[in-house]
Amino acid sequence: MKERTLSIIKPDGVSRNLIGAVVKRLEEAGLNIMAMKMIRMTKEQAKGFYKVHEGKPFYESVTDFMSSGPCVVMALEGEDVIKRYRKLMGATNYKEAEEGTIRRDFATDIEKNVVHGSDSEENARSEINYFFNALEIAK
Ligand code: ATP
Ligand code: MG
Repeated sequence: MKERTLSIIKPDGVSRNLIGAVVKRLEEAGLNIMAMKMIRMTKEQAKGFYKVHEGKPFYESVTDFMSSGPCVVMALEGEDVIKRYRKLMGATNYKEAEEGTIRRDFATDIEKNVVHGSDSEENARSEINYFFNALEIAK
């Protein structure tokens, strides 16, 4: 089934000049980039984005991190893209991520793990709408 998902290259990925490396992997895997922009979230915007994690011990820290510098946000499209992109990213904890995944190859920390990907169709829809309006998404 054709789906969309939200991808973010997090501030550590942008500041370490990994935009090209991440985009290359998406393109090589055949995931279509339908929208792409660089943004800098405020703390409040980062808290809104990670609202599902409100109350967890890492919530304050991860929202500080996500608002610490620019991110690249992308809407990706393809068959089964939510699961395929999560597989390319690898596990949250890079030490447990499979070889050849983005996080295994580039992450430095459980928090500073280079990329985000939506985890369900419902979250993908709301996360894409959080960052993009209809005019910004290629049809
Ligand atoms: P993401 O939502 O960013 O794609 P994920 O779905 O693999 O990552 P989540 O459980 O949704 O992982 O956690 C969101 C983000 O919060 C993680 O990617 C990471 O940056 C941070 N995080 C998660 N767990 C921890 C932790 N135990 N300690 C520090 N930071 C964490
Ligand atoms: Mg998540």
